[in-house]
Amino acid sequence: MTNPAAHVVIVGAGHAGGAAAALLRQYGHAGPITLVGEEPIPPYQRPPLSKAWLKGEADADSLALKPLEFYAEHGIDFQPSITATAIDRDLKLVSLSDGSTLAYDALILATGARAIALPIPGADLEGVMFLRTAADAELLKATVGPGKTLAVVGGGYIGLEVAASGRALGAEVVVLEREARLLARVACEVLSSFFKARHEAHGVTFELGASAVAFEGKNGQVTGVTLADGRTVPCDAVVVGVGAAPNDELARACGLDVARGVVVDLEARTSDPAIWAIGDVAHRPMPIYDRMFRMESVPNALEGAKQAACAITGRPAPAGEVPWQWSDQYDLKLQIAGYAFDVDEILVRGDPASGKFAVFHLKGDLVQSVEAINSPPEFMMGKLLIGARRPVDKARLADPSISMKEVAA
Ligand SMILES: Cc1cc2nc3c(=O)[nH]c(=O)nc-3n(C[C@H](O)[C@H](O)[C@H](O)COP(=O)(O)OP(=O)(O)OC[C@H]3O[C@@H](n4cnc5c(N)ncnc54)[C@H](O)[C@@H]3O)c2cc1C
Repeated sequence: MTNPAAHVVIVGAGHAGGAAAALLRQYGHAGPITLVGEEPIPPYQRPPLSKAWLKGEADADSLALKPLEFYAEHGIDFQPSITATAIDRDLKLVSLSDGSTLAYDALILATGARAIALPIPGADLEGVMFLRTAADAELLKATVGPGKTLAVVGGGYIGLEVAASGRALGAEVVVLEREARLLARVACEVLSSFFKARHEAHGVTFELGASAVAFEGKNGQVTGVTLADGRTVPCDAVVVGVGAAPNDELARACGLDVARGVVVDLEARTSDPAIWAIGDVAHRPMPIYDRMFRMESVPNALEGAKQAACAITGRPAPAGEVPWQWSDQYDLKLQIAGYAFDVDEILVRGDPASGKFAVFHLKGDLVQSVEAINSPPEFMMGKLLIGARRPVDKARLADPSISMKEVAA
């Protein structure tokens, strides 16, 4: 699509939607842009909600992707607190929660994902919280502190970040994880054990192999989490961090192809040529792994925004990127590049006890992914090797006395 007067409607004013609006203008789109978001504030970054912001090390203004004025100054009609309720693909109309409709020439779905709720008794008690939005984070920050016990259900990255921030705020923290190890879905055993030990050193306690079956309460307020083995873990507040599900209902209802998210091509285009889907809601191709999947990360949101903005403004599709993400806990910076698909060997470079090491996931002599703790060169060079699909000498990779630059050369 290269119609410079086209009306682009973006549904979802999160990281991907906000970035797409800004990029469309940056790439010279002259037509109207409408950015519709159900949250009351302009697009903001979510990562600090479980990290610096939650610990009180960043203020609310620093979360915003752009100041509110940016949107009006760039002719972007930002409509907060409005939900898109339906899409009519024949008439190219989006229905909104205020009863109005928006006609579009190009539509970008950037509706993100939502925290998965636990369908167990007591889930509606006061103090049972999630962490997806700035409003969720405000509530959590107001609830945890000295003298309080926070139970975190789910030992994934967000759960562990909340645990670390909870400790920084002075709360007692217990993490309840259904699997036998932390980060079971996303990281290898080396990393699981490493993070468990680090959290324990900071006073976090763990219940592994522990399924939450009910939240207990008194006067409508949560007081504990009952586990499948019958024990109740007392607490003053709970954060449920058991994953996120794509907000793909609008796409399903209007008949777009949907798998584990809205199916798109390398230009982020859906099965309807006038509709794109980007960010957490998109089920997208990843040629370096020769497969499709859905990702939840800021770099993925930005890449999708770039792909859609390029396609809509008639630019060539941007070069493919190696997926990456990060997590901050205490003084640990974890950077992850790639995904550990079809891995037949795991190689640890450096000594985990030093708090500075990297885990390489290999398929033959190809690096599929790297998890680097406080090790930026391993992350950067590992990412490069993943993207280049260049075979690596495993003995040299395992030897920290040989620099990553030399290993990757
Ligand atoms: C606590 C937390 C920590 C994170 N930490 C990291 C990290 O360290 N590193 C990293 O890479 N990623 C991290 N992520 C993930 C990252 O923030 C997401 O991948 C990213 O925000 C995805 O952007 P998005 O625009 O697709 O979705 P979102 O940012 O979720 O935005 C979607 C927006 O669409 C709105 N919306 C949904 N449906 C409608 C509708 N029908 N009408 C109007 N609006 C609608 C939603 O309300 C929301 O505002 C974190 C996420 C969370 C929650």
